[in-house]
Amino acid sequence: MIAMARTKTAERTCAGCREQRPREELVRLAVVPEPPFVVADARGQLGGRGVWIHADTQCLQTAARKGGIARSLRKPVSLDPSVIADGIVAQLERRLEGLLLGAHRARKIAVGTDSVRESLAEGRIRLLCVASDAAGRRDELMASAERLGKACVVLGPKADVGRLFGRDEVAVLAIEDGGIAEEVRRASAHLAGLRPAGTFPHKEPVEGAEGASSSAPRQVESVVEDRKPE
Ligand SMILES: [Zn+2]
Repeated sequence: MIAMARTKTAERTCAGCREQRPREELVRLAVVPEPPFVVADARGQLGGRGVWIHADTQCLQTAARKGGIARSLRKPVSLDPSVIADGIVAQLERRLEGLLLGAHRARKIAVGTDSVRESLAEGRIRLLCVASDAAGRRDELMASAERLGKACVVLGPKADVGRLFGRDEVAVLAIEDGGIAEEVRRASAHLAGLRPAGTFPHKEPVEGAEGASSSAPRQVESVVEDRKPE
């Protein structure tokens, strides 16, 4: 099946749990000749051989230790699942930051409580993003988004979210473009599989995060509503 990885079929097999899933639910790892031997290819832009895997600590460990990745490398290698996970996380974080700033430049994002309320009232919202410490307003806005059938993503503290947009703090965001919303939702869901939700963005800028090791606990905690937006 690995030799067929570049054809456009909709399903891929996770190299960890061996489940067949739609490719959107998995992350592609591209094979490279040097350690760590596989690098995250979240946007599917790297050619060559690849491996598909759930963004999940357990699946990564299984794939690294029980041969799911080595099979596609076609040689015996020692793989470090935590280094591979760090690479995936760094790439997903850069992707999320790029998506949020891109939406901002395209004026497809409402920033702050008043703008988000307006976006909700006028039906422009496609995805709600709330800071982990957004307090009371968070529940009210999450309930409103829920009523509209919109997905919800939990980001880091409002001071860190604010820094992305050059503000002191930002508690809530509404993404108003369907395509960007879907990509943010997907990247956030993958990220939450490898890091606790609410850890993006970092206090420090993400750039240069490649290979940086995180001291964050690797528990799997999904507080991302995994419902597809309309
Ligand atoms: Zn899996």
